[in-house]
Amino acid sequence: KDLKKHFPLSGGMLQGAKNYVKAVDGIDLEIFEGETFSLVGESGCGKSTLGRTIIRLMEPTEGEIKFGGQAINSLTKKQLLPFRKDMQLIFQDPYASLNPRKRIGETLREPFQIHQLYSTREQKEKIYELLRHVGLNEDAYTRFPHEFSGGQRQRIVIARALALSPKFIVCDEAVSALDVSIQSQIINLLKKLQNEYNITYLFISHNLNVVKYISDRVAVMYLGKIVESAPKGELFKNPLHPYTQALISAIPLPNPEKERSRERIILEGDVPSPVNPPKGCRFHTRCPMVKPVCKEVEPTMIEMENSHKIACHLYN
Ligand code: SF4
Ligand code: MG
Repeated sequence: KDLKKHFPLSGGMLQGAKNYVKAVDGIDLEIFEGETFSLVGESGCGKSTLGRTIIRLMEPTEGEIKFGGQAINSLTKKQLLPFRKDMQLIFQDPYASLNPRKRIGETLREPFQIHQLYSTREQKEKIYELLRHVGLNEDAYTRFPHEFSGGQRQRIVIARALALSPKFIVCDEAVSALDVSIQSQIINLLKKLQNEYNITYLFISHNLNVVKYISDRVAVMYLGKIVESAPKGELFKNPLHPYTQALISAIPLPNPEKERSRERIILEGDVPSPVNPPKGCRFHTRCPMVKPVCKEVEPTMIEMENSHKIACHLYN
């Protein structure tokens, strides 16, 4: 609720005041148990920062975070430890996130060691079980990361995230570095695991095709704010925000000849700096529908039909 994460700019003093990158700048968000909630938006819009702040890998500047009804935003590191098991992060580069000098068995043992779970023999059994669940052979145990393909390495990363039976996983561009055919395998694996273990995902991606496939609900971010959110089907069928409309118009069509032609909306200009976001609606410098009020007044989020939420003056 009203979540903010501002980073101080080193040396950036403007008129005597310190400058901040307002990466996440006032976000209200609810993620339901067992669902896949996606965050989309261009790089730099604050998606990753939001994902990491929600699970407190980064400290929020302001706002409240509740996990299963319990406020976790002000817990100390020690108080947070039981929640650490429940919340995991999987991110983009499966090579960078595995220690190249450690055998897979050692890497997968770490979560158990940190939380002091099971005997050494039980840990080994658990690791074999994890490897099977993510579709790898048990002989992976004694091998090193470089012996695996990108897709297999992402399976290992997923196995590590699953080790402590988490309830909530933030997947930050979890398939973006993979080839398209491998992407769908990993997405299907994530879905299978979600059904087996009732896991909730926050799925962060700039790829709308992937989001369209995996999500239950979707939120669109622009410059540190959520501008629109809706159930997946509703959002893709009936995008309301001019920014969302532009993003969706840019998705390549699988069968361009068969499908109704669709006009691509090209946005002018670059994303403004999150240090000094534009006054009023933050999207007004690039919006094809901009009105005078947009430059002065920030639109508030309103709820329309079909659980569709939108922050734009066109609908007020
Ligand atoms: Fe465009 Fe105005 Fe809506 Fe912002 S509030 S998206 S500038 S129409
Ligand atoms: Mg990111």
